[in-house]
Formats: sequence, structure tokens, C-alpha cells
Amino acid sequence: MLGHSIKTLLAKALSATAVSDASIALQRRARGSRFLRAINYHGTSPVEAAQMDAQLAYLARRFTGCGLADLEAFLATGRWPHAKPGLMITFDDAFRTNFDVAVPLLEKHGFIGWFFAPVAFVDCAVAGQIAFARQNGIGLAIGSGFDYPDGRIAMSWDELRQVAARHVVGCHTMNHRRMPASVPAAEMRHEIVDAKRVMEERMGREIPTFCWVGGEEENYSAEAAALIREAGFRFSFMTNSGITTPRTDPLQIQRTNVEAHWPLDVVKFQLSGAMDMIHRGKRARVNRLTSA
Ligand SMILES: [Zn+2]
Repeated sequence: MLGHSIKTLLAKALSATAVSDASIALQRRARGSRFLRAINYHGTSPVEAAQMDAQLAYLARRFTGCGLADLEAFLATGRWPHAKPGLMITFDDAFRTNFDVAVPLLEKHGFIGWFFAPVAFVDCAVAGQIAFARQNGIGLAIGSGFDYPDGRIAMSWDELRQVAARHVVGCHTMNHRRMPASVPAAEMRHEIVDAKRVMEERMGREIPTFCWVGGEEENYSAEAAALIREAGFRFSFMTNSGITTPRTDPLQIQRTNVEAHWPLDVVKFQLSGAMDMIHRGKRARVNRLTSA
């Protein structure tokens, strides 16, 4: 995994020669607009709003938003009825700052967001949410809302139900648990199968979309992949940077990391295709490991 400072340096070097922009244009020429990309944010603090606004303005010039029905139709028919490629903008961990900042910005720019919630984080009493985040690997960096005066940093179920009316809400395990093969079977089942059932009760709708936690290679496993299928999830999102084509397994949709506070040049770099190349070996190994 490249550190942020290295990425910043690379992005600066690349953008100096407009390579990132050119590379994005090249991907379009090579594939037409018949591919989708997915990116993943985490928290989106009010102090990052202007930066994110600029990112979304840039993204809206190059991509068309893609929601669940669009993804389903694309994978089923191979057709993408837009001049620009599709973009799935996803958010991990269900931070309250996503509801306050990201949702209005997405709607301003005509995008559909995908929000992946760890069920027990949303269920957690407000007073315990920061401790829950610390104990379960939910990052409390800038954007996570740790500075809300009332201490609530997760979206509420009511907020998630509002979001689900226009966007996509998916499951990010019960306890934000990574899923290496060493997790005991009963715990793995709780994190995947029970999480889907509980989330569907809370949301009052089917939750067909799962998002793996962590993204380090050792935190994918065949065992968890089998439970994701058994639970009835129809889509799952990973973090091994790559485009989605009509041949992509819907349980292996890849994302590239982006954060709201990153300079636009870094975002351009992340989407330039360089990260796809860097992740190529890992992506192939994880896809093999998690295939049916
Ligand atoms: Zn997460």
C-alpha cells in the first residue's frame, strides 16, 4: 500500500505533465465508455466540503453516476447507455459526516452514493461510538466526525433509511470485522449472514450489497466469500483497484481509495489507471481465492 505522502509526490509529478488527465482520457478511448469505476471514501467532514465539492465537479465532467439498478443492468446486458463511463462513489463505515456533507454534495453533482454500514456501529449507543470505532478498526482521522459535540459519529438507522430512498445502503459486516480464514466459522457467519438479516430488519428492505473490511490481501478468504454467497448478497465490493466490465463477477467489484481531504491531483492520480497496475497481482490472487 502506498503511503499518502508518496502518492502526493507521484501525483504532483504526474499532474505536472497532465499525465493523469491524459491517462483517464486514454482509458476512455481504449474502452469507449463501456466500463465502470468504483471509488471509496470514508468520513467527509464539513471542513473538507469545499475540497470534496471540487473533486465531485471534476468527477462529474468525466463520469456518469451509477446506482444499483444501473450496475445490475450493465452486468446483465453489457450495455452502458451513457457517453461517459459510470462511477460508483462509495463510503465505508457509515459516518454521520457522510449524511451531513457527502449526501448533499453528491445530489448537487447528480451522483448516487453507496454507503456501507457496520451494523453494530450504527446500533451502538452514542456514548459508546468513539470507543467502538477505536476497538473495531474504524478510523477516527479527519472526516470521521469525532468532534461532534454530542459524540454521535455514526449515521442513525433513520438517517440510513432516508439515504436509501435515493442512494444505496449496503452491509459492511456486523462489527467491522476483517475476514481472514482464521476467524472462527461461527463468528464469520455472525459477521456476514446475521449482519445481513439484522440490517434488513432495521432498514425494512433487501440489502443485496456487501463490502469487505480492511482490504489487505490476508483479510480476504474463501470461507468468507462462501458465506457472502450463502447469505444471498448479490454484489460485493473489494479494494483492489480495477475497472468493472460486463465480465466482472458481481461479487468482485473493485474500488480505488480516495479521501475528501486529498488534493485533486491525488484523486486524478488514483483514477489514472496506475493503481490498477499496482494492484494487478493482488487483485488476481484475491479474485481466484474468492471465486465460487
Ligand atoms: Zn471500513
